[in-house]
Amino acid sequence: MILDDVLIKNQEFVKNFHAEKLSHKPKKKLAIVTCMDTRLAGFLESAMGLERGDAKIIKNAGNRITEDALRSLVVAIYSLGAEEVMVVGHTDCGMANVNFDKIRESMKTMGISEDVIEKLNLEEWIGAIDDEEKNVIEGVKKIKNAEFIPEIPVHGLIVDINSGAIKVLHNDS
Ligand SMILES: [Zn+2]
Repeated sequence: MILDDVLIKNQEFVKNFHAEKLSHKPKKKLAIVTCMDTRLAGFLESAMGLERGDAKIIKNAGNRITEDALRSLVVAIYSLGAEEVMVVGHTDCGMANVNFDKIRESMKTMGISEDVIEKLNLEEWIGAIDDEEKNVIEGVKKIKNAEFIPEIPVHGLIVDINSGAIKVLHNDS
């Protein structure tokens, strides 16, 4: 299991790490919504010049502004002092090529009953992306239109997954 490897690595990590106390409030007063893509892990932070403790980072498949992303933003803004929001998409997003039939097939193979699969409206629930840039702009609009989000800057960015170059799609200043 991968867990065994993680636990071994963790022992080494703790031995070599000098513990530091950081606030749970983001130093840069920034909240980010981005994608769960494996290639962004440990990469996006560097590409954006962010250190541990600098920002709230909310991740999901395809950086969608779901109910839960909005819930996390509300906590980040009202409880943790975030004053600026960035929706950060990336090129070559896996959510742009989701094959729903394949997901249904995998679910069946892994023992999920057809009843359960049918009840899930996968297309709507998972929400495929037509275009990574359009998806970011829609996300920014969704946040800005939410009646419980205050008048703070909400930017839209897209990062090149290979080079790390960031393009600004919506500068809200
Ligand atoms: Zn993605």
